[in-house]
Amino acid sequence: MGILVVGSVAFDSVETPFGKMDSILGGSATYFSTSASFFTDVSLVAVVGDDFQEEHIDFLRSRNIDLTGLSRVNGKTFHWKGKYGYDLNEAQTLETHLNVFESFKPVIPALYAGADYLFLANIDPELQMEVLNQMQKPRVVACDTMNFWISSKREALKKVVERVDILIINEGEARQFTGEANLVKAAKSILAMGAKTLIIKRGEYGVLMFTDSTIFAAPAYPLEEVFDPTGAGDTFAGGFMGYLANTGDTSEEGIRQAIIFGSVMASFNVEDFSLNRLKKLDYKEIESRYRGFKKMTHFEGLSSR
Ligand code: AMP
Repeated sequence: MGILVVGSVAFDSVETPFGKMDSILGGSATYFSTSASFFTDVSLVAVVGDDFQEEHIDFLRSRNIDLTGLSRVNGKTFHWKGKYGYDLNEAQTLETHLNVFESFKPVIPALYAGADYLFLANIDPELQMEVLNQMQKPRVVACDTMNFWISSKREALKKVVERVDILIINEGEARQFTGEANLVKAAKSILAMGAKTLIIKRGEYGVLMFTDSTIFAAPAYPLEEVFDPTGAGDTFAGGFMGYLANTGDTSEEGIRQAIIFGSVMASFNVEDFSLNRLKKLDYKEIESRYRGFKKMTHFEGLSSR
């Protein structure tokens, strides 16, 4: 049971207090698919320009990611330029060049339309909707977005949220999207739009999951070295969806475990720029950090007196 992901494949220029990198491999679908590939089969739909280097394609192939849906067209690859201050939780977007994404019309290959798991990574919500309309009957649809689309395409985004099972967004975006400063109120308002599960990412403070009947909180893994938070959200989503697709278990317990796998993957990603840490990662390290999470969050119930 594999996953289909549609999102950006990009060049990022990133500045953090620990260094600066120009035109490195990035993009929401790149981080997502690489992370999910540790758990399940992934097919990617996106577009790149003729400046996209073969070594990046080779890397995605080496992760067994199906690239039938990755089109290469004349023009420049999507380019995002961002900066982080010492508070690494909030990216400041300096420049967004949609480039080849400006005229991109996602066509879902017939082979992918029956996928059980669909992730609409951060791209134009109108494109997310076009993809959703081409799918047969996915079992789980999750989606992400960002401030750029919340301010420029709010109505289109609302229509997407009406139709997804799981929305995964940052806390600032949840506030911006709903106009509610309080996260519990923001969550209620998003669930009322139609999403059945909401996952709010809170950077180094972890994630909160809301459904109509429950709340689950997971911390982020405490790390001494954090270099670049870019892609943490997409890497989280990749681990989360990858684990769900691998087990097929969408019970509350299964979703909680998937949230921890997502958090584990994100914690590795921020240890280096671009996808450099994921490139070196092996599954044993993932399992070991999962156990670390369990230990870190365990506490006893009330004893009966
Ligand atoms: P994250 O840090 O997980 O929220 O996502 C970072 C990735 O999102 C970067 O690698 C960017 O290339 C990509 N990105 C930034 N802005 C946009 C946008 N407007 N649409 C699609 N992808 C974007």
